[in-house]
Amino acid sequence: MKISVIGTGYVGLVTGSIFAHLGHDVICMDIDEEKVKKLKSGDPVIYEPGLEDLLKEGIEKDKLHFTTDIKEAVEKSDFIFICVGTPPKKSWETDLSYVKKVAEDIGKHINGYKIVVTKSTVPVGTGNMVKEIIRSYNKNNHPFDIVSNPEFLREGSAVEDTLHPDRIVVGSDNKEAAQKVADLYRGIDAPVLIVKLYSSELIKYASNSFLATKISFINSIADICERTGADVEEVAKGMGMDKRIGYHFLKAGLGYGGSCFPKDVDSILYTSMQLNEPFIILEATRKVNENRPVRFVERMEKMMGELRDKKIAIWGLAFKPNTDDMREAVSIKIIKLLKEKGSNVIAYDPVAMNNAKNVYLKDVDIEYVNSPMEAVKDVDALVLVTEWDEFKRIDMKEVIELMKGKFLFDGRNLYNPEEMEKIGFSYVSIGR
Ligand code: NAD
Repeated sequence: MKISVIGTGYVGLVTGSIFAHLGHDVICMDIDEEKVKKLKSGDPVIYEPGLEDLLKEGIEKDKLHFTTDIKEAVEKSDFIFICVGTPPKKSWETDLSYVKKVAEDIGKHINGYKIVVTKSTVPVGTGNMVKEIIRSYNKNNHPFDIVSNPEFLREGSAVEDTLHPDRIVVGSDNKEAAQKVADLYRGIDAPVLIVKLYSSELIKYASNSFLATKISFINSIADICERTGADVEEVAKGMGMDKRIGYHFLKAGLGYGGSCFPKDVDSILYTSMQLNEPFIILEATRKVNENRPVRFVERMEKMMGELRDKKIAIWGLAFKPNTDDMREAVSIKIIKLLKEKGSNVIAYDPVAMNNAKNVYLKDVDIEYVNSPMEAVKDVDALVLVTEWDEFKRIDMKEVIELMKGKFLFDGRNLYNPEEMEKIGFSYVSIGR
């Protein structure tokens, strides 16, 4: 099939590469000329395990092409996947301007029957909005259908998730069009759920906000553990053994971040407010999450005393391991809080330092170093923010030797408390 993918970020690039891998002819289009140039040369631009190989395979087999020309992308394809960003506005509303622009361009260049698929995460009702926009620019009344096909991949394992998803959700008011989109995934072994357009749009938000709630729930349990002497890891294990609950997303820590959970929670809260149906559980989920970094830094202060002029090493900047994505990373909030209190911050992350330096922490005075051991030299405290595998393998006895102080704040419960105390750390973790 001839597919175009509009927007080649984490979702678009992985989607396009996988469709090419499945044998389709794919054109990936983006407005970012620099990015398209790099993609053409086989550079995936983002860090995502397995993506570079897929990209090169697609290019070599002549199945994967890149362009900045939307006209070409629309005209040469039967399926058009919209994969542009849907960032949050300050008001929690979703910014749909990128989606609207693509819809407009599709309407202008449509030259025959197309199936337009929204893969971007969009509020319920957006599919119909896209339909209206395309219709208003579609001078020759070319036929088209709208399908929603939300994406559930996780950054850091995006390729793996797309090749082995738990489910493929396809929503449309035209069952035939929905089936055609489902057929594009032939070769991927996963259940396909075909539903109404609105249901499909809502499944994505319902799933992400439920997972976010699980995280805030276990974090609230962690707070009770800290007061009582219970161990949240044990509590989570005991809960997870119940099949109705499951182990996933019961990891206490510094809260959720990233480009999806925070904005998707806000977006559905905004929708619920518009509908005058307050989503009280989710309001609490959000509030608990907002407070995680604040509570953590307060604990640091309680242990170490005034943080002014303290030298603090941060291990991990990315919002989670195996990605260079810094969007809504908890590290940003923690570092800003520490800087407000006058601390000196030395940071290390295996892949996210460029993003931090150039974009997300651009105006913050941080010393970046090239190894975790370099980061801990003469520091008063070490704070583990992102649980990269690399940090699990480090000999912590060597770490304490290099440090001036002995404080280890483990925001992800990566280390064993008894072992850390034996080594000599004043060890603080979450909910235990
Ligand atoms: P991203 O910011 O990484 O990529 C978006 C891309 O769209 C950018 O390369 C940008 O240049 C391009 N773009 C913007 N306007 C364009 C236009 N008019 N024409 C062509 N390209 C244009 O975003 P992402 O993380 O890939 O997310 C895309 C969507 O998928 C969002 O709605 C997001 O919520 C959703 N989603 C993301 C993830 C994730 O883990 N990142 C997972 C599931 C769903």
